[in-house]
Amino acid sequence: ALQLVWFRTDLRIHDNSALAAAAEKGPVVAVFLHSTEQWQAHGHGANKLDFLARGVDALKDALAGLNIPLLQRETGTFEQAPRQLAEIAHQLGAEGLHFNHEYPLNEQRRDQAVIEHCQSARLSVHGYHDAIAFAPGTLLTGKGDYYGVFTPFSKAWHKNVQPEQLALRNTPEPQAPLDIPSDTMPDLPAMDTQAVDGRQWPAGEQAAADKLERFLRFRGRYYQSKRDFPDVHGTSELSAYLALGMISWRQCMQAVLSENGSLADGDAGLVAWVSELIWREFYQHVAVGFPQVCQHQPFQAHTRHLAWRDDDDAFAAWCEGRTGYPIVDAAMRQLVATGWMHNRLRMITAMFLSKHLLIDWRRGEAFFLQHLVDGEFCANNGGWQWAASTGTDAAPYFRIFNPTTQSSRFDPEGNFIARWLPELEQLPAKARHSPPRDLLTQLDYPAPIVDHKMARQRALDAFKALKD
Ligand code: FAD
Repeated sequence: ALQLVWFRTDLRIHDNSALAAAAEKGPVVAVFLHSTEQWQAHGHGANKLDFLARGVDALKDALAGLNIPLLQRETGTFEQAPRQLAEIAHQLGAEGLHFNHEYPLNEQRRDQAVIEHCQSARLSVHGYHDAIAFAPGTLLTGKGDYYGVFTPFSKAWHKNVQPEQLALRNTPEPQAPLDIPSDTMPDLPAMDTQAVDGRQWPAGEQAAADKLERFLRFRGRYYQSKRDFPDVHGTSELSAYLALGMISWRQCMQAVLSENGSLADGDAGLVAWVSELIWREFYQHVAVGFPQVCQHQPFQAHTRHLAWRDDDDAFAAWCEGRTGYPIVDAAMRQLVATGWMHNRLRMITAMFLSKHLLIDWRRGEAFFLQHLVDGEFCANNGGWQWAASTGTDAAPYFRIFNPTTQSSRFDPEGNFIARWLPELEQLPAKARHSPPRDLLTQLDYPAPIVDHKMARQRALDAFKALKD
């Protein structure tokens, strides 16, 4: 009997648990629900939604090669999902509904509502833990709690992971054609802002596979030594593809295995890269184990009372890259212009907002999500809470990056700064990290909006006040 596969953040036909399992039971029809209003309410911006729409188109083409039609509906919010899916299943006479789990709270609640609604309509529903190796709740501390610290999580992950968890799921053989046409993209609500040029982020599995291959062939072994330098293409740039499932974490791990024979030993660059993929999984477990993080709350409850400053001017300066700290400004301009920012710079800019400006990390989290093409709730929230010292692994609150020191260490020649702040290009490399005050008007570049020492002390005091 006919099986429905509901695609969400798993836009691929290869190594897809739900698709593989459904195809074993019978002919498949695929569904994608565009919940644009919901995604906008979650804070996703034009870059991400444009990449998503192109990803769905690429998926439709890939499915067509298997004679699987793709139905598409605009549903607005998640609330419409149960009824829409049941209706489609009823019209087609489908017997089963298959999907891969998503872990943020609203997505879980939506899926629970779908399960209840479909079961009452006698449609059997099958969920698969595909996006991560361990179903949430199956990798716990000795005391039976979810991990709130990465290193022991990672050790437990390596110790317990089994070859079956890493094995690629079957890609279905083409099925006999069905008399059901694929839908074209429905008319989607207009966005207030325009997406950046999508050519930098070609959508689809093939583009993702090419990126993975190029990364492993040319950069994987240097990852450990190059990954922190924003002017070097030292990382995989696969985050947007992983976030929407145009490539799977298993495909990444298998590629490392075929190159290195192991995920835990051997080439230091590849092992370090595996560790980043485990960070990705860690934050998905955190979202399930500590659902307060999905409800605008800090992971560390006591930081709820931190006296964040209301300072719209400083926030605007940060968003627009006018803080007078070149590395911060260059990074913010990269984000706004390309929809992506290097990890080292995400840490520097997030810490600058939450510590130097003492502005609520949630404002920064939202701004990132609005712009990131790879915007993904768990990683973004985890990264922001880490930087603000409200999160897991609590970066101890007294660790406050000095942006100028970070800049000299990770952009030693000031090349990244010069690329994004052409007004500083004429300065010698060493002066780009902190332009001489007497030149600022000539350079058309602002003076630092906050003094590092003063700001550092102010942040320390605010955190200390929590203890009293
Ligand atoms: P690589 O270095 O090649 O890493 C491989 C993959 O591992 C990445 O594609 C990503 O899927 C995963 N990964 C790497 N680092 C992390 C991490 N710290 N946490 C979770 N997963 C990780 N990543 C997102 O995918 N979406 C986000 O919205 C996001 N927001 C962030 C916000 C802040 C404040 C910080 C500090 C980090 C954020 N990250 C986010 C994590 C990280 O910065 C990006 O995943 C990384 O820069 C993407 O580049 P890459 O694909 O070249 O990564």
